Amino acid sequence: MSEKKQGPKCKAVTRYWLEFYGHDKFGICTLCGNSGIIDTTKTAVTAAGIHVGRKNYCICPNGQWERKAAMKKAVKDDAPGSQG
Ligand SMILES: [Zn+2]
Repeated sequence: MSEKKQGPKCKAVTRYWLEFYGHDKFGICTLCGNSGIIDTTKTAVTAAGIHVGRKNYCICPNGQWERKAAMKKAVKDDAPGSQG
């Protein structure tokens, strides 16, 4: 996937990620370890004890790619004739 096809929003997000969350030495995402997914299902708990976590796509290039692929798959699955 070329950066040109991602559009300006993804470029801005990628720049933001690189500035604040890309590992200085290894270039690895410090949020997700390059998995593309941030799982807060066990860690995001409010002061009242309510679990609000979930699995989110990361803002790093891998996360953006994963999100885009999932969106394409969802559109494909919803296409006429794709469900029985
Ligand atoms: Zn990441």
